[in-house]
Amino acid sequence: LTREGFSIVPDVKWDDVGGLDHLRLQFNRYIVRPIKKPDIYKAFGVDLETGFLLYGPPGCGKTLIAKAAANEAGANFMHIKGAELLNKYVGESELAIRTLFQRARTCAPCVIFFDEVDALTTSRGKEGAWVVERLLNQFLVELDGGERRNVYVIGATNRPDVVDPAFLRPGRFGNLLYVPLPNADERASILKAIARKKPIDPSVDLDGIAKNNCEGFSGADLAHLVQKATFQAVEEMIGSSESSEDDVTDITQCTIKTRHFEQAL
Ligand code: ATP
Repeated sequence: LTREGFSIVPDVKWDDVGGLDHLRLQFNRYIVRPIKKPDIYKAFGVDLETGFLLYGPPGCGKTLIAKAAANEAGANFMHIKGAELLNKYVGESELAIRTLFQRARTCAPCVIFFDEVDALTTSRGKEGAWVVERLLNQFLVELDGGERRNVYVIGATNRPDVVDPAFLRPGRFGNLLYVPLPNADERASILKAIARKKPIDPSVDLDGIAKNNCEGFSGADLAHLVQKATFQAVEEMIGSSESSEDDVTDITQCTIKTRHFEQAL
Protein backbone atom coordinates (compact mmCIF):
# COMPACT_ATOMS: atom_id res chain seq x y z
CA LEU A 1 0.00 0.00 0.00
CA THR A 2 0.87 3.40 -0.47
CA ARG A 3 -2.37 5.24 -0.59
CA GLU A 4 -4.79 4.81 2.26
CA GLY A 5 -7.15 1.90 2.02
CA PHE A 6 -5.28 0.00 -0.65
CA SER A 7 -3.20 -2.84 0.66
CA ILE A 8 -0.96 -5.62 -0.53
CA VAL A 9 1.25 -8.28 1.00
CA PRO A 10 4.65 -6.56 1.18
CA ASP A 11 7.68 -8.09 -0.53
CA VAL A 12 10.07 -7.66 2.42
CA LYS A 13 11.28 -10.99 3.83
CA TRP A 14 12.86 -11.81 7.20
CA ASP A 15 16.13 -12.27 5.29
CA ASP A 16 16.03 -8.63 4.23
CA VAL A 17 16.10 -7.57 7.86
CA GLY A 18 19.42 -7.61 9.71
CA GLY A 19 19.62 -7.81 13.51
CA LEU A 20 16.35 -7.20 15.39
CA ASP A 21 16.17 -10.85 16.44
CA HIS A 22 14.12 -10.07 19.54
CA LEU A 23 11.46 -8.35 17.41
CA ARG A 24 11.37 -11.23 15.01
CA LEU A 25 10.60 -13.55 17.92
CA GLN A 26 7.87 -11.29 19.23
CA PHE A 27 6.19 -10.84 15.87
CA ASN A 28 6.42 -14.54 15.15
CA ARG A 29 4.77 -15.29 18.44
CA TYR A 30 2.06 -12.64 18.38
CA ILE A 31 1.31 -12.07 14.69
CA VAL A 32 2.68 -14.72 12.32
CA ARG A 33 1.68 -17.88 14.18
CA PRO A 34 -1.79 -16.72 15.29
CA ILE A 35 -2.54 -15.83 11.66
CA LYS A 36 -1.19 -19.11 10.35
CA LYS A 37 -2.66 -21.44 12.99
CA PRO A 38 -5.82 -19.72 14.20
CA ASP A 39 -7.49 -22.99 15.26
CA ILE A 40 -4.90 -23.77 17.90
CA TYR A 41 -5.13 -20.31 19.43
CA LYS A 42 -8.90 -20.56 19.40
CA ALA A 43 -8.88 -23.99 21.01
CA PHE A 44 -6.78 -22.63 23.87
CA GLY A 45 -8.96 -19.55 24.16
CA VAL A 46 -5.96 -17.26 23.76
CA ASP A 47 -6.62 -13.54 24.00
CA LEU A 48 -4.58 -12.37 21.07
CA GLU A 49 -2.21 -9.44 21.29
CA THR A 50 -2.97 -7.12 18.42
CA GLY A 51 -1.41 -3.76 19.27
CA PHE A 52 2.31 -2.91 19.24
CA LEU A 53 4.32 0.27 19.42
CA LEU A 54 7.81 0.30 17.94
CA TYR A 55 9.94 3.14 19.19
CA GLY A 56 13.51 4.19 18.68
CA PRO A 57 15.82 6.34 16.55
CA PRO A 58 15.03 6.88 12.86
CA GLY A 59 16.19 4.49 10.17
CA CYS A 60 16.65 1.40 12.35
CA GLY A 61 14.10 -0.85 10.68
CA LYS A 62 10.71 -0.18 12.24
CA THR A 63 8.92 -0.04 8.90
CA LEU A 64 10.99 -2.88 7.50
CA ILE A 65 10.29 -5.36 10.31
CA ALA A 66 6.57 -4.56 10.28
CA LYS A 67 6.49 -5.31 6.55
CA ALA A 68 8.49 -8.50 7.02
CA ALA A 69 6.08 -9.69 9.73
CA ALA A 70 3.12 -9.09 7.42
CA ASN A 71 4.87 -10.88 4.57
CA GLU A 72 5.77 -13.84 6.75
CA ALA A 73 2.16 -14.13 7.89
CA GLY A 74 0.83 -13.68 4.35
CA ALA A 75 -1.08 -10.64 5.60
CA ASN A 76 -1.94 -7.43 3.80
CA PHE A 77 -0.22 -4.26 4.90
CA MET A 78 -1.58 -0.75 5.16
CA HIS A 79 0.83 2.12 5.76
CA ILE A 80 -0.70 5.18 7.38
CA LYS A 81 1.12 8.30 8.53
CA GLY A 82 -0.11 10.22 11.54
CA ALA A 83 0.58 13.64 10.11
CA GLU A 84 -1.03 12.77 6.78
CA LEU A 85 -4.12 11.54 8.52
CA LEU A 86 -4.45 14.84 10.32
CA ASN A 87 -3.88 17.05 7.32
CA LYS A 88 -5.99 15.16 4.84
CA TYR A 89 -9.10 14.56 6.77
CA VAL A 90 -9.82 17.67 8.73
CA GLY A 91 -13.57 17.68 9.15
CA GLU A 92 -14.16 14.04 8.34
CA SER A 93 -11.58 12.46 10.53
CA GLU A 94 -13.80 9.98 12.36
CA LEU A 95 -15.21 8.68 9.13
CA ALA A 96 -11.71 8.31 7.72
CA ILE A 97 -10.58 6.24 10.68
CA ARG A 98 -13.70 4.10 10.63
CA THR A 99 -13.30 3.47 6.91
CA LEU A 100 -9.66 2.60 7.41
CA PHE A 101 -10.40 -0.10 9.96
CA GLN A 102 -13.35 -1.33 7.91
CA ARG A 103 -11.07 -1.79 4.92
CA ALA A 104 -8.50 -3.52 7.05
CA ARG A 105 -11.16 -5.98 8.26
CA THR A 106 -12.27 -6.56 4.69
CA CYS A 107 -8.78 -7.51 3.61
CA ALA A 108 -7.87 -9.38 6.81
CA PRO A 109 -5.51 -10.79 7.82
CA CYS A 110 -4.11 -7.30 7.73
CA VAL A 111 -1.39 -5.31 9.47
CA ILE A 112 -2.01 -1.58 9.78
CA PHE A 113 1.33 0.19 10.15
CA PHE A 114 0.69 3.50 11.75
CA ASP A 115 3.76 5.70 11.41
CA GLU A 116 4.32 8.93 13.38
CA VAL A 117 1.87 8.00 16.10
CA ASP A 118 3.22 10.96 18.06
CA ALA A 119 1.53 13.36 15.60
CA LEU A 120 -1.80 12.33 17.08
CA THR A 121 -1.73 13.88 20.46
CA THR A 122 -3.97 16.46 22.03
CA SER A 123 -1.13 18.06 23.89
CA ARG A 124 0.36 19.61 20.78
CA GLY A 125 -1.10 23.03 21.46
CA LYS A 126 -4.52 24.58 21.18
CA GLU A 127 -4.61 24.98 17.44
CA GLY A 128 -6.60 22.14 15.94
CA ALA A 129 -6.67 20.27 19.22
CA TRP A 130 -10.35 19.39 18.83
CA VAL A 131 -9.70 17.77 15.45
CA VAL A 132 -6.96 15.70 16.99
CA GLU A 133 -9.14 14.81 19.92
CA ARG A 134 -11.98 13.55 17.73
CA LEU A 135 -9.59 11.58 15.60
CA LEU A 136 -7.86 10.14 18.62
CA ASN A 137 -11.17 9.15 20.18
CA GLN A 138 -12.34 7.37 17.06
CA PHE A 139 -9.02 5.65 16.83
CA LEU A 140 -9.35 4.45 20.39
CA VAL A 141 -12.87 3.18 19.70
CA GLU A 142 -11.49 1.11 16.82
CA LEU A 143 -8.52 -0.11 18.82
CA ASP A 144 -10.79 -1.12 21.68
CA GLY A 145 -13.36 -2.67 19.35
CA GLY A 146 -13.25 -6.09 21.02
CA GLU A 147 -12.88 -8.78 18.40
CA ARG A 148 -10.50 -7.19 15.93
CA ARG A 149 -10.74 -10.12 13.59
CA ASN A 150 -7.23 -10.58 12.35
CA VAL A 151 -6.38 -6.89 12.16
CA TYR A 152 -3.07 -6.06 13.83
CA VAL A 153 -1.95 -2.52 14.49
CA ILE A 154 1.74 -1.64 14.68
CA GLY A 155 2.46 1.96 15.62
CA ALA A 156 5.87 3.58 15.20
CA THR A 157 7.49 6.66 16.64
CA ASN A 158 10.83 8.32 17.23
CA ARG A 159 9.28 10.27 20.09
CA PRO A 160 7.72 7.89 22.59
CA ASP A 161 7.82 10.69 25.18
CA VAL A 162 5.11 12.64 23.35
CA VAL A 163 2.84 9.75 22.36
CA ASP A 164 -0.59 10.28 23.83
CA PRO A 165 -0.76 8.09 26.96
CA ALA A 166 -4.25 6.96 25.97
CA PHE A 167 -2.65 4.95 23.16
CA LEU A 168 -0.42 2.98 25.46
CA ARG A 169 -2.99 1.11 27.49
CA PRO A 170 -3.20 -2.67 27.15
CA GLY A 171 -5.27 -3.71 24.16
CA ARG A 172 -4.32 -0.58 22.25
CA PHE A 173 -0.65 -0.12 21.39
CA GLY A 174 -0.07 -2.08 24.58
CA ASN A 175 3.18 -3.87 23.67
CA LEU A 176 6.10 -1.48 23.64
CA LEU A 177 9.05 -2.68 21.61
CA TYR A 178 12.34 -0.80 21.43
CA VAL A 179 14.15 -0.72 18.09
CA PRO A 180 17.69 0.36 18.99
CA LEU A 181 20.64 1.62 17.00
CA PRO A 182 22.47 -1.58 15.97
CA ASN A 183 25.64 -2.75 17.73
CA ALA A 184 28.69 -3.98 15.80
CA ASP A 185 27.41 -7.54 15.22
CA GLU A 186 23.97 -6.26 14.24
CA ARG A 187 25.54 -3.77 11.82
CA ALA A 188 27.35 -6.66 10.16
CA SER A 189 24.14 -8.63 9.89
CA ILE A 190 22.31 -5.58 8.45
CA LEU A 191 25.07 -4.83 5.95
CA LYS A 192 24.98 -8.43 4.75
CA ALA A 193 21.19 -8.38 4.47
CA ILE A 194 21.36 -5.21 2.36
CA ALA A 195 24.27 -6.51 0.27
CA ARG A 196 22.51 -9.80 -0.44
CA LYS A 197 21.00 -8.48 -3.65
CA LYS A 198 24.10 -6.63 -4.84
CA PRO A 199 27.09 -7.95 -6.82
CA ILE A 200 29.59 -7.59 -3.98
CA ASP A 201 33.06 -8.90 -4.79
CA PRO A 202 33.79 -11.95 -2.60
CA SER A 203 36.98 -10.31 -1.35
CA VAL A 204 35.04 -7.52 0.41
CA ASP A 205 35.11 -7.92 4.19
CA LEU A 206 31.60 -6.77 5.06
CA ASP A 207 32.03 -7.84 8.69
CA GLY A 208 35.14 -5.74 9.07
CA ILE A 209 33.61 -2.69 7.39
CA ALA A 210 30.47 -2.86 9.53
CA LYS A 211 32.36 -3.39 12.76
CA ASN A 212 35.32 -1.07 12.28
CA ASN A 213 34.16 1.71 10.00
CA CYS A 214 30.48 2.20 10.75
CA GLU A 215 30.31 3.02 14.45
CA GLY A 216 27.02 4.80 15.19
CA PHE A 217 25.47 3.96 11.81
CA SER A 218 21.76 3.17 11.61
CA GLY A 219 20.37 0.60 9.17
CA ALA A 220 19.39 3.46 6.87
CA ASP A 221 22.98 4.77 7.01
CA LEU A 222 24.27 1.31 6.06
CA ALA A 223 21.82 1.17 3.15
CA HIS A 224 23.09 4.57 2.08
CA LEU A 225 26.69 3.35 2.27
CA VAL A 226 25.92 0.42 -0.04
CA GLN A 227 24.11 2.78 -2.39
CA LYS A 228 27.11 5.13 -2.56
CA ALA A 229 29.58 2.26 -3.00
CA THR A 230 27.42 0.95 -5.84
CA PHE A 231 27.55 4.33 -7.57
CA GLN A 232 31.32 4.43 -7.19
CA ALA A 233 31.57 1.01 -8.83
CA VAL A 234 29.18 1.95 -11.64
CA GLU A 235 31.00 5.18 -12.40
CA GLU A 236 34.37 3.48 -12.40
CA MET A 237 33.07 0.86 -14.82
CA ILE A 238 31.54 3.49 -17.11
CA GLY A 239 34.76 5.51 -16.98
CA SER A 240 36.86 2.53 -17.97
CA SER A 241 34.44 1.44 -20.70
CA GLU A 242 34.51 4.94 -22.22
CA SER A 243 38.27 5.01 -22.31
CA SER A 244 38.55 1.56 -23.80
CA GLU A 245 38.44 0.73 -27.51
CA ASP A 246 36.31 -2.25 -26.75
CA ASP A 247 32.59 -1.56 -26.78
CA VAL A 248 31.59 -4.60 -24.84
CA THR A 249 31.58 -4.44 -21.05
CA ASP A 250 32.50 -7.64 -19.28
CA ILE A 251 29.49 -8.03 -16.98
CA THR A 252 31.35 -10.46 -14.74
CA GLN A 253 33.66 -7.55 -13.81
CA CYS A 254 30.69 -5.48 -12.59
CA THR A 255 31.21 -5.99 -8.88
CA ILE A 256 31.45 -3.68 -5.91
CA LYS A 257 34.92 -3.85 -4.41
CA THR A 258 36.60 -2.79 -1.19
CA ARG A 259 37.90 0.43 -2.73
CA HIS A 260 34.34 1.47 -3.61
CA PHE A 261 33.32 1.04 -0.01
CA GLU A 262 36.36 3.04 1.07
CA GLN A 263 35.46 5.86 -1.32
CA ALA A 264 31.84 5.76 -0.14
CA LEU A 265 32.86 5.88 3.53
P1 ATP B 1 11.81 6.13 10.54
O1 ATP B 1 11.68 6.16 12.03
O2 ATP B 1 12.65 7.23 9.99
O3 ATP B 1 10.50 5.94 9.82
P2 ATP B 1 12.40 3.30 10.39
O4 ATP B 1 12.92 2.85 11.72
O5 ATP B 1 11.00 2.97 10.04
O6 ATP B 1 12.70 4.84 10.20
P3 ATP B 1 13.06 1.90 8.02
O7 ATP B 1 12.21 2.76 7.13
O8 ATP B 1 12.56 0.56 8.35
O9 ATP B 1 13.41 2.70 9.32
O10 ATP B 1 14.52 1.77 7.40
C1 ATP B 1 14.96 2.58 6.33
C2 ATP B 1 15.86 1.78 5.42
O11 ATP B 1 17.08 1.47 6.10
C3 ATP B 1 15.27 0.44 5.03
O12 ATP B 1 14.51 0.54 3.85
C4 ATP B 1 16.50 -0.42 4.83
O13 ATP B 1 17.09 -0.19 3.57
C5 ATP B 1 17.47 0.14 5.87
N1 ATP B 1 17.40 -0.60 7.15
C6 ATP B 1 17.09 -0.05 8.35
N2 ATP B 1 17.15 -0.97 9.33
C7 ATP B 1 17.47 -2.14 8.72
C8 ATP B 1 17.67 -3.47 9.20
N3 ATP B 1 17.54 -3.81 10.49
N4 ATP B 1 17.99 -4.42 8.29
C9 ATP B 1 18.14 -4.12 6.98
N5 ATP B 1 17.96 -2.88 6.48
C10 ATP B 1 17.64 -1.90 7.33
